[in-house]
Amino acid sequence: MSVLIKTLPVSELNGIGSKLEQELNDMGIYSVEDLLFHFPFRYDFRELKPLKDLQHNETATIEGKVASEPSLSFYGRKKSRLVVMLKVEEVAVKAVFFNRHFLKNQLNIDDTLTVTGKWDAHRLQITVTHYQKGRAGKKSSIQPVYPLKGKLTNRTMRKIVTNALRTYGKKVNEILPDHFLSKYKLPERKEALKSIHFPGNRIHLKHARRRFIYEELLLFQLKMQLLRKMKREAGKGNGKVVDEEKIDVFIQGLPFPLTGAQKRSVDEILHDLRSPYRMNRLLQGDVGSGKTVVAAISLYAAVTAGKQGALMVPTEILAEQHYESLQDLFKGYCNIVMLTGSAKGKARQDIIEKIKNHEADIVIGTHALIQDPVQFSDLGFVIVDEQHRFGVEQRRALREKGLDPDVLFMTATPIPRTLAITAFGDMDVSVIDEMPKGRKPVKTYWVKDHMLDRVLQFILDEIKKGHQAYVISPLIEESDKLDIQNAVDLFHQLQEYFSPDVKVGLMHGRLNADEKEKVMKQFAANEVQILVSTTVVEVGVNVPNATVMLIYDAERFGLAQLHQLRGRVGRGDAQSYCILLADPKGDTGKERMRIMTETNNGFELSEHDLKLRGPGDFFGKKQSGLPEFKVADIVQDYKALEVARQDAQDMIRTNTLFNNDEYHELLKMTEEEVNEQIYD
Ligand code: ADP
Ligand code: MG
Repeated sequence: MSVLIKTLPVSELNGIGSKLEQELNDMGIYSVEDLLFHFPFRYDFRELKPLKDLQHNETATIEGKVASEPSLSFYGRKKSRLVVMLKVEEVAVKAVFFNRHFLKNQLNIDDTLTVTGKWDAHRLQITVTHYQKGRAGKKSSIQPVYPLKGKLTNRTMRKIVTNALRTYGKKVNEILPDHFLSKYKLPERKEALKSIHFPGNRIHLKHARRRFIYEELLLFQLKMQLLRKMKREAGKGNGKVVDEEKIDVFIQGLPFPLTGAQKRSVDEILHDLRSPYRMNRLLQGDVGSGKTVVAAISLYAAVTAGKQGALMVPTEILAEQHYESLQDLFKGYCNIVMLTGSAKGKARQDIIEKIKNHEADIVIGTHALIQDPVQFSDLGFVIVDEQHRFGVEQRRALREKGLDPDVLFMTATPIPRTLAITAFGDMDVSVIDEMPKGRKPVKTYWVKDHMLDRVLQFILDEIKKGHQAYVISPLIEESDKLDIQNAVDLFHQLQEYFSPDVKVGLMHGRLNADEKEKVMKQFAANEVQILVSTTVVEVGVNVPNATVMLIYDAERFGLAQLHQLRGRVGRGDAQSYCILLADPKGDTGKERMRIMTETNNGFELSEHDLKLRGPGDFFGKKQSGLPEFKVADIVQDYKALEVARQDAQDMIRTNTLFNNDEYHELLKMTEEEVNEQIYD
């Protein structure tokens, strides 16, 4: 039966002609089902409450008797204000109407009147937006307010939804097995649908919402976890025989013992490499937590199994840094090459040749890796660093260079748990949540602009001690050009300020690869003491001798980004400092600065960021990767999210979803969604 409303065009409903149909189509509403599941985004509450329960400034509905002649005054052109006293529960309340001059002749002393409007508790006054002669009646009224586009009015929506509910509401199928309804005390789907549009009272509304929040999150989690299962099984048969002994020797040879969290992550990854299923894992770790070593051990493990490994990073600077540190680590263990856009001619040909004939065990590179001429001899393991910087297409292209290779994604952006299980619900996740021993936490200060001089003196003191500093220029959103202009201006100012003893360098995205490399090398060798930069130094760059990170206009950056920038210092033995130069106007800006000074923990910070900016903004504009939920809010409904996730997991693990008739509708809906996404 549900097939009917799913395919039945809205035009089949009474009162929907071609014009209205077009308007509905423009909002993505084609079928009767679409219409029934187009939910209100808020409600107008018109329910009587005792005066004493009314909050100042809330929209309230009250019932009373007219106790004075209406007084009417005009102002402006055709604008009027009408005031009448109402007796409500023996209290005199002033009712104010705008532009309802005709009421003067319609209201008589002792008439009963029900009015809705903004309640002023101090003046005992209500500014009326809606009124009705007579009593309110027993039934309170909660009116839906719909998200709309174009010329469509809320009134029309209410009418056609009422109509659709009356004609087809009974044809809506339950999709949840009975015992879930009783376990969570959820209303049936039909009932809930009626209530979410036209709730009889607040309690009904609450339960209807609870039901659809759970339903939405459950379907989503089922989809993610079914995807995960299918992706794993797609690579079935790719188990690798890694050489434990060699791996142990390699780990023993490292200049430091692994942290517990590193060990755990390595174990999880090795387990995936050995298993016949394809690895699809995310490695999360705060800046400086030591992801590179974990990546190195995993790459080496794949090599001991006779495979090639690839590490793809978003920028050339990062590729070079990784290449250098990995070259050291792998000396005497395996062969490593680097391929970036700047390798040209014969040198490039040589590298490509080595990749093809397996002379290279490990390849580090930028997206140059996924270009056509690059062919691997036997690519079995792929790591994508800062995966959010690559599109789906690029990640797929790299994967396709191998035969079902295992894939590990790495990110230094700590992702709050609710987001992780939403955006990455189809992956396994390893978390490095422990810092190497002996690290001194970076001290963070928030200073106002007028203290700049003292800050610059402080930097000079640090430089005299032999240290170095980063200075991040203000960020101008939507304008690369202005960003760079800013950096150039700041570079000149600081050069003048610090000359001649201190050398200042400049780094931004428009420099060509040679120029960038030159500046970075100078900074790494302490030939340049201050590096002025746009946010391009944000990821990965490692100069342990730098102890100061100064960020101009810090209020313009998100918490996650500030934290990334801060992670560029505190990488050596000396005490490091992060100085946020900011005069934020708004409360959120101030809040952000305060949080930065109070915590060094990326995960804690990310939870704050999520609350301050909301899930949509968390990952930035380019890739949200987050689904848009209709009723659920992953921040507020995180408990329901956990419950739904657990339920989805159980249904799939125990095969109930596939074998039990009661789950048939759920399975059908999940499969429809999965089929749209399996090829990502
Ligand atoms: P990130 O997670 O930001 O990529 P890195 O892998 O660059 O962190 O590591 C940061 C620094 O910490 C490097 O200099 C690295 O050599 C060092 N390091 C990594 N693991 C450990 C450890 N277990 N003990 C001590 N130092 C470590
Ligand atoms: Mg790193």
